[in-house]
Amino acid sequence: MTAFLAQTEQVSPRVIRILGCNPGAFTLQGTNSYVVGTGDKRVLIDTGDKEKPEYIANLKKVLKESGATIQEILTTHWHHDHTGGIADIFRELQLPDDVKISKFPRNPVREETIVGGEGRLKYNYLNDGDIIKTEGATLKAMHTPGHSDDHMVLFLVEENAVFTGDCILGEGTAVFEDLLTYMQSLQKLVDSAPDILYPGHGPFVSDAVAKIQMYIDHRNTREEQIMDVLAKNGKPMESMDIVKILYAEVGEHLHRGAEVNVRNHLTKLEKENKIYKINSDMILKWKTRH
Ligand SMILES: [Zn+2]
Repeated sequence: MTAFLAQTEQVSPRVIRILGCNPGAFTLQGTNSYVVGTGDKRVLIDTGDKEKPEYIANLKKVLKESGATIQEILTTHWHHDHTGGIADIFRELQLPDDVKISKFPRNPVREETIVGGEGRLKYNYLNDGDIIKTEGATLKAMHTPGHSDDHMVLFLVEENAVFTGDCILGEGTAVFEDLLTYMQSLQKLVDSAPDILYPGHGPFVSDAVAKIQMYIDHRNTREEQIMDVLAKNGKPMESMDIVKILYAEVGEHLHRGAEVNVRNHLTKLEKENKIYKINSDMILKWKTRH
């Protein structure tokens, strides 16, 4: 079931959600961008994609109605559907160049350019635990890599809520680059026991801990299934052999995508020393460690 989201919506006394107007297969109804605070200067979390005039118009309208301007921009991670709108916002809202644009650094650290920023716009880099304050809201940054190496979530202290970026989505399950760090990030999130999640895509979540636990359980179940297949088979297997068994019920056209997922699990299990890889003829094979 897909919940219908309005283009702009006041979701709490201090949070307004604005849809990025960039719907797609990977963005659900589009990226959520959040205006946070109650004063005449507010924090903007994530900026949608570039060249989305409808989004910029909605952002302008929300700020005008609130009698507010932007104090600072925070981006949960580098992906274009979260950072693409930055330069458009600076231009269209005539923000001074010294308005901060903050995020976590990439890992390994590397130079990052802001698309359309012509070198004038630069990122300000945050550390774990940094506090960003605005009237009516206190945000605490937490590094949660896994979906991307630079991913952060932001705790909204006043509501015991979390802006989860792409770590947790409002619907379905998220994709990740590195499963081991992703699982560690999910555990950090669940340990912080939030009440509400404001995700990067999809509707807000009110049973926050249950939702995060569901993500953890989903991945653990998959992992147990993979270990099971490897143990039962007893011989080294390629990732696609595992997919053909675990995803026998789904169409073969989905097997390539499933293989990416299975490989992520295998890499995690290998890092944890639970399985090992045999590299022969450029084919990666995994066998359980006894
Ligand atoms: Zn992303």
